Amino acid sequence: MSQTIHLSPPDVGPLEESYLVAALRSGWVAPAGPDLQAFESDIAQRLGTGGAVAVSSGTAALHLALLGVGVRPGDVVVVPTLTFVATANAVRYIGARPVFVDCDPRTGNVDVGLVADLLRQLRSRGERIGAIVPVDMFGSCADYGALAPLCVEAGVPLVEDAAEALGANHRGRPAGTFGHVGVLSFNGNKIMTTSGGGMLVSDDTALLDRARHLSTQAREPARHYEHRETGYNYRLSNLLAALGRAQLVRLDGMIARRRHLRDQYAKLLAPVPGVELLNAEDTESNCWLTVITVERERCGWRADDLAVHLAERHIETRPVWKPMHLQPMHADAESVLTGAAERLFADGLTLPSGSALTEPQIARVFAAIDEFLAVRAGGATA
Ligand SMILES: *Cc1c(COP(=O)(O)O)cnc(C)c1O
Repeated sequence: MSQTIHLSPPDVGPLEESYLVAALRSGWVAPAGPDLQAFESDIAQRLGTGGAVAVSSGTAALHLALLGVGVRPGDVVVVPTLTFVATANAVRYIGARPVFVDCDPRTGNVDVGLVADLLRQLRSRGERIGAIVPVDMFGSCADYGALAPLCVEAGVPLVEDAAEALGANHRGRPAGTFGHVGVLSFNGNKIMTTSGGGMLVSDDTALLDRARHLSTQAREPARHYEHRETGYNYRLSNLLAALGRAQLVRLDGMIARRRHLRDQYAKLLAPVPGVELLNAEDTESNCWLTVITVERERCGWRADDLAVHLAERHIETRPVWKPMHLQPMHADAESVLTGAAERLFADGLTLPSGSALTEPQIARVFAAIDEFLAVRAGGATA
């Protein structure tokens, strides 16, 4: 039986092994250590931010980022409905209320026109708006040219959820640097991984210092254990930071592989009417996941049909994120909707996109798609 081809498996090898073993042998197995600081400064340097704080997950980074910009219990926080649940969870941790906003159907990123209307409405209702959290969906940056001035005008802090977008740019500027604070994820399926981890990046060193403090149980600098407030156990371990440093060395190569893969998908699917690549024209994306949208009326099949065909051949695909406003846990939340996210959820499919995919695996995926198209379109593909 053929081995399962996964969507975005970790891409690790001898370099990661050597960094990890070196960290282990250095004796810095306990949480803090030189790799942790080096990893933070490597990332800060790459993005050009004043600093960075490494934590145990992207979700933890989001939580600390929202606390850092002053989100309080009862605040409203503007969140895209099309995102991974972590974005909204971090809002809930604080006891703030997410308000979900629909996406631009062409990009999957938050609809800026809707955000502008919502900010006006919320202000006229006298709501305290704690933050707006745009998400750089599947590795393509949100429209910060429009979002950033909106936030400045409304006096609302922007927290960029760049968990999927490390290495992407928007008009030449790196993902993660568009808000007051940006959040990265190094989860196992992301563009680079520490097996689990996340980071806050910002120019606000006071915010970063406070996040670092809160991430280590808010322990005061005393010989005994002294705590003035409730902290969290969120710090990244030194061993995982070493893994991250090795991954960062290889990041551009891994992005190039994902980009090449997306270009190949684009070529394969170009002749198929009704099938498009999401964000195909974004040349600055990190191409984390290749997403197709399928218009059944034009091609005669649904995204699900292709998913089933590939699953039978042990090839993993996933729908795009199920919108937050459809999640039972958020049934009480307010939303501003156009139907765009629901359509993407119904018609979208993420294809195997990992940089660790081997040439034979890629060939297997393409042969399986070809076979599907040949049957569905009566051999319409070249
Ligand atoms: C992965 C992800 C996160 C959370 O990151 P973890 O490291 O898994 O906690 C947050 N937001 C988005 C949009 C993500 O894709």
